[in-house]
Order: sequence, then C-alpha cells, then structure tokens
Amino acid sequence: MQIKYSDILISNVLIPLYDKNQRYHVRIKNGKIFSVTSVDQNLAAQESTAYDMRIECMNNSLELWPTYVENHAHLALPTNFDNFLEPMEIVALQYLYFGITQVMDLFGYPSISKEWDAMMENSHGIAPTIMHCGYALTAPTLNDKVGHGAEFPLPVYVVNNEADILSALEKNVMAGAQFIKVMYTAGIEKPGDLPRFSLLQKEIFSKILMFAKQYDLECIVDCNTLEEVKFAVRCGYRYFAHPIRDVILTEEDWNDLKNCYFVTTLQGLKGMVMTGNEMEQACDTFHFHQTQLPGQEKHFATVTMPYGIQYGMQNSRLHALNCMRENSIAALLRNQCVLGSDAGNTLSYHGLGFYEELLYFLQQKSVTRHNLLIAATQKIPGIFEKKLTNAFSLDNEANINLIESNELLPTNIIKGDIILTPHLIANKIETLRHSL
Ligand SMILES: [Zn+2]
Repeated sequence: MQIKYSDILISNVLIPLYDKNQRYHVRIKNGKIFSVTSVDQNLAAQESTAYDMRIECMNNSLELWPTYVENHAHLALPTNFDNFLEPMEIVALQYLYFGITQVMDLFGYPSISKEWDAMMENSHGIAPTIMHCGYALTAPTLNDKVGHGAEFPLPVYVVNNEADILSALEKNVMAGAQFIKVMYTAGIEKPGDLPRFSLLQKEIFSKILMFAKQYDLECIVDCNTLEEVKFAVRCGYRYFAHPIRDVILTEEDWNDLKNCYFVTTLQGLKGMVMTGNEMEQACDTFHFHQTQLPGQEKHFATVTMPYGIQYGMQNSRLHALNCMRENSIAALLRNQCVLGSDAGNTLSYHGLGFYEELLYFLQQKSVTRHNLLIAATQKIPGIFEKKLTNAFSLDNEANINLIESNELLPTNIIKGDIILTPHLIANKIETLRHSL
C-alpha cells in the first residue's frame, strides 16, 4: 500500500480562499507546496515533468482547504465511560480520518508523551502534529474549593506566589510546552450561581502572562464568565479556551473584546445535558462506527438521567450551552473564533467531536460554509505559528484537505508527502483494534 509520494499533481482543483470560481493546478514536491498555477496558465508545462501521483478534479467539485485544526483537545483524558484511554496509534488516526492534521492539547499531554513519541516513531508520519501546554496553572484550594482543573485525573500546577509561577513555567518548558494554559474561573455558569472553584488571586493571575513572555510563551485562559474574561483582557490576555458561558454578549461587550479569540468547545459540554437515549443516538452514526471504540452503547443504558440533573446543574448547563452557542456564532461572524471540541471530555470523541462542531455550525442560518471552513482551518494567532504551519503558501509543508464542495469530510487528506482517505484510515483503525 503506497501512501507516500514525492511528487503530487492536483489538477483543476478549486481554492475558495483564492477565488471561488477559478480552478488551479497544485504541485506538491517532497511534501512541500511547489507551485500553484491557474488553469489559464499552461498545464502542459505542469505535466511535462513526471509526477508519481495525480489527483484529477475536472469532473467533480473538489475544493482545496488548509487542514482542519483542533484547537482544544486533551489527548490524555478518556472520552469513554469506562475511563479507558484509547491507544495513541488509534487516537492519531481518529483525528486524521476527519481531516485534522494539527491538534492543540490544552493540558495533560506530558502524561502520555512517551506513548505519543513511540507512536510517532512507528507511524512514519501518519499522525497529526501536536502543540501542548504541559499541565495547566490553577488556584490553590480555598474554603474547601479546589482550583479548576484539579477535578480531572491529571496533574495541575497550583500557584500561590511568584516562586510557584516560575517553578510551574520551568517544569512545563522542561516537558516541551509551547504555550501556557491558565485557569481563571470560579466555575459559575449562570448569573446567581455559587462558585464551584477557587479563583486565582488577581495579582498572581496578572503576573503569569508577564512571566510566560519571558519564556517566549503565549497564554490561553480558561474563563467562564464575562467578568472573568474582561479582567483577563485588562491584564493583557487575548486567547480564551472557551466561549463566555454566563451571558450572551452585546455589541458593546464585543467592542471591549476586540482582538480576542475564543475556542468553540460546544461538544465538551453537550454530553453533560444529554440523556442516555440521546447519547445512544448521537453515537449510532456511520463515522462513529468507523472511528470510535465499539461497545460504548452498553454504558449509555446506565445513564438514566443527564449528568446535569444528577449533579443538580442541568439548568445551569443548558443555559451555559446556549450562551456558548450564541457567543460562538457571533465570534465566528467576527472572525474571532477558532474551532475546538474539548475532545477527551466524556462524549467529545477525538476527531469526531470536531466534526460534530462543524455539523452544528453548518445548520445555523447566519453561518455560511465558507465562513465555517475559515474558522475550522484557523489557529489562534501567534500561538501556533511557531510549530504548526497550515498556511497554504509556496514552500510550506503541504497540510491540506480536498473536500467536495457541499461536504465537510475530506475525500483526500494530504500531510506532507502522504495522501490518506477516510476509508483507508478506517481500515487501519480496524486492523489496529484487532492487533493491539
Ligand atoms: Zn478542556
């Protein structure tokens, strides 16, 4: 089975980011974008030298887009009910199946880094590129409340003072972190709710950004409320791991949040308000069966009521999900939104969670497919540029998806000199499940 090609010609492809009507010939040599010419220019010249793979788009409506970027995942959290972490070989393929070749891990990666590295060595490049933050920084326990993040089965760095900040940053840098995640939230989901977590001292929170910059690291902040976000913005933070979830923002609010970016993460909350039946339905889909762990269905039967009801938070959670949806759509239309699914949280499956986000936004009247694909292929500015390049320009590594013009799932996923199809990846997942 050949999937690596040193010289690829994609002919007559649409590139909506350039021009919606024009067709192009794209040449990829040794995994890099070598040339892009419009069909008006001479194809004969393109064809005159040998290529070893040609994708001909003349008779269909294939579009070329930069790869999808999952901007909020947790590779080290179990997506399933039985707390079973899928092998990284399979997790990597779950992302690729949906056309995601770049993944941002929003805390926890060091716990699975050895397994991930081993997988990278064996996979011959058939895995997404990741960027990670190490472990998140959070507030100390106060009045019996822990800092957000401490409720997950992964370490967090608790910071009380400047020495703690420096120590946490150093440990993350040693672990290879390329940005920093800071928890600044009391966990309030609805105005009037009681705080669930302790909040970082304002003074400490404001210093983390300054210290991180000394290490040349950007920060992403986890906030729930508008008030928390506004304070973070006053401290100089711009990038937020979630949309605001306590209120729907007004025009005036948005004016105060210029240059801020929010990750959608709807899928991470959705599982909390679903009944067992709804879970069962959501997972009885073709793409679920192609990519995810079989046998989850028996766990759904045990969910007699949504977690939101079990924990007395159903109203808050429904309110929060609604605000997150509305604020994400508004951010998307303002180009202040990137897609991310909070994969690793229960029911936000690796790869599939991102695809579910795409499906949700496509159903919204105000969102066009073009707007949506721009958000889905976008990274939080500044942070990713150091390592992840999916900009479609000459001499960059080819990280592209070929997608039918009325679809969201790519037919061809190109990562450097590798061409994959969802069908090929599903077969590999099945083979791996039998062999591992
Ligand atoms: Zn998360």
